[in-house]
Amino acid sequence: MDAALRHDQPHAASRRALALLLLGPPGAGKGTQSHAISRKFGIPEISTGEMLREAVRAKTELGNQVKSIMESGELVPDPLVCALVEQRLSQPDCAQGFILDGFPRNLEQARFLDQWLRSQCRFEPLALNIQVDPNLLIKRLTGRRMCPRCRTIYNIYFNSPQKDEICDKDGSPLAQRRDDSEAAIRTRLQEYEAQTKPLLDYYRDSGFLREVDGDPDPPAVTSAILGLLEPS
Ligand code: ADP
Ligand code: ADP
Repeated sequence: MDAALRHDQPHAASRRALALLLLGPPGAGKGTQSHAISRKFGIPEISTGEMLREAVRAKTELGNQVKSIMESGELVPDPLVCALVEQRLSQPDCAQGFILDGFPRNLEQARFLDQWLRSQCRFEPLALNIQVDPNLLIKRLTGRRMCPRCRTIYNIYFNSPQKDEICDKDGSPLAQRRDDSEAAIRTRLQEYEAQTKPLLDYYRDSGFLREVDGDPDPPAVTSAILGLLEPS
């Protein structure tokens, strides 16, 4: 059976669409998995980090407001991010389900999302905690490279392109994120511990949380996630 149909089944009983929330520290592999699951199921991946970086690149008012906050590794204020997410989730392509990568990041955002999901009455939330050995995270982050054109994510240690620093798919020179510097990584990991980790209990208490081992290679992690999305 087609994967998209299979994935719909656990949610079909309640006729609800999947709202998949990817949780995990910086470098856990949320973006990598979100690309893979989005391709598999044909539902959009919504990365607040990507949307904010796009605003910075385009030098919009929002982009100018958040640029230095992002470079430092701190979190952007909730009202700005929540407004961005609400606008994006209201687009028609989210009606059949969506994947959120990097949102919610704290309890305030989680409560905001809950309220929004409740107001829509048609989404079934599922939060995945992608767990990774903390010793791996620094190499994942300092080694991360991204294609500025097609947004494919690479890693010079774990998942390198065939040609050094060149995208396999479209030949573009790869870029490194400004916040993948050691100082910003330290701040981002602290922000994760202080603000995002408490969300695990929040979703565990609601019964929406599933754990995923993020240590194996990306295809193995994707298979584990697909296994969780299949009907039991
Ligand atoms: P996040 O969105 O959680 O910050 P990314 O998906 O951007 O994480 O991955 C961080 C880095 O780790 C990237 O360089 C990516 O290629 C690499 N990576 C992601 N998943 C794995 C994995 N399962 N094994 C090894 N490296 C990985
Ligand atoms: P990571 O690799 O840490 O998972 P992201 O791409 O999700 O990175 O986020 C990069 C930066 O964008 C964060 O450090 C933060 O400044 C900002 N950001 C992204 N999502 C949020 C959010 N939900 N709330 C506040 N700030 C955010």
